[in-house]
Amino acid sequence: MYNVIMLLEIKKWFLSKILRKKYYRTGKCKACGKCCTQIYVKHYKHVIQDEKEFEKLQYLHSFYKNLKVIGKDEIGLIFECQNLDPVTHKCKIHFQRPGICRRYPQEELFSMGGALSDDCGYKMEPIIPFKDIINKLSKSKHKA
Ligand code: SF4
Ligand code: SF4
Repeated sequence: MYNVIMLLEIKKWFLSKILRKKYYRTGKCKACGKCCTQIYVKHYKHVIQDEKEFEKLQYLHSFYKNLKVIGKDEIGLIFECQNLDPVTHKCKIHFQRPGICRRYPQEELFSMGGALSDDCGYKMEPIIPFKDIINKLSKSKHKA
């Protein structure tokens, strides 16, 4: 048990100090397929809003050829992946799926304005516990 805690602390330290991440992922995928039906595409610093722009991107990244526009909201265009089996809700190319799918979810999701679905098996936990942030804030408030 002690070793598991140590490994988690080392992982958090690496994510925070080396990769400059603020969250770490916990939990497990339940293979519901929801995240494959509500996809936003970020290119450089903006979320794709325009179908014409997306068509150009499809030539640069072959994976994007699998994505179909199904709507748009205040964040941007919403895509569904054609590799998702509509009956089983499983990925048809699971063993060949791209890295972006293997690494999902990452905290960049939040910077795009997205969120995990309520019943997603993963959670994104802040690396610094909230109680420490609140303690720090209250200390700096007392100093001011
Ligand atoms: S929404 Fe979450 S639980 Fe469902 S397939 Fe995606 S990562 Fe897995
Ligand atoms: S390739 Fe598979 S895991 Fe990736 S978005 Fe498509 S269906 Fe989902």
